[in-house]
Amino acid sequence: MESVRAAARLLADADAERVVVFTGAGMSAESGIPTFRDSLTGLWARFSPEELATPEAFEKDPELVWSWYEWRRAAVEQAAPNAGHEAVAAIGGTLITQNVDDLHERAGSPDPVHLHGSLFAPRCFACGLATDGPVCAACGGRSRPGVVWFGEQLPAGALKRAVEAASTCDLLITVGTSGLVYPAAEIPHVAAMNGAAVVQVNPQPTPLDEVATVNLRGTAATLLPAILKEAAILRRP
Ligand code: NAD
Ligand code: ZN
Repeated sequence: MESVRAAARLLADADAERVVVFTGAGMSAESGIPTFRDSLTGLWARFSPEELATPEAFEKDPELVWSWYEWRRAAVEQAAPNAGHEAVAAIGGTLITQNVDDLHERAGSPDPVHLHGSLFAPRCFACGLATDGPVCAACGGRSRPGVVWFGEQLPAGALKRAVEAASTCDLLITVGTSGLVYPAAEIPHVAAMNGAAVVQVNPQPTPLDEVATVNLRGTAATLLPAILKEAAILRRP
């Protein structure tokens, strides 16, 4: 495919240190983890994420919110990284993810920037410190899932690292994100504004189409390994 070649050319020519990969829920779809825009199934079909993923929902019914996250965590534990996660690990550079799963780490990406937190790092609802039981050892507050909820600020350190990497990269590859959830969706715009090329991998149109230098309609697990393979061929002297 013509545009796989164009994306591979950009990757082959880029300094690996100056490549950013930016991922969203679509990255893990082929591992069997549903995206938010897929409606909730089974037990949870009568809820929407907006009803569960907010500080207000947690205040009102912490058991309900915890059980939803426990269910999601169990689903992630049973899933395995897909060929797309593996390609992302091989690309290297800086990985910025909106995903709260650990599939990137399990595929070998050592230190992803988790813009929206993690299912595996609970913290205190009162003071924010990491917790490892139902209550906070520091202040006695209740433990909450370590993810960013609707209406909450992104973790400052993660956002800083993400903006720094995006503003100094030569190439940003955005994968499986709808580009609708802000401020995370700023990241590809920051890269484009600073002159980086932007490659998008998504089977559907998104608002990021307008910043994409190369726009690939297809899935993470098929296109990312194809780009990587082609880039290796182009790099050969
Ligand atoms: P989103 O649900 O808004 O969008 C998913 C995007 O992925 C869509 O544009 C869709 O077309 C695309 N997509 C679907 N299948 C794909 C595939 N196989 N390959 C490539 N792309 C594919 O997700 P978002 O943009 O990440 O934003 C929603 C929020 O939901 C995020 O904040 C994220 O933290 C959270 N979330 C995380 C997970 C997870 O950790 N796995 C799962 C669901 C939601
Ligand atoms: Zn506390």
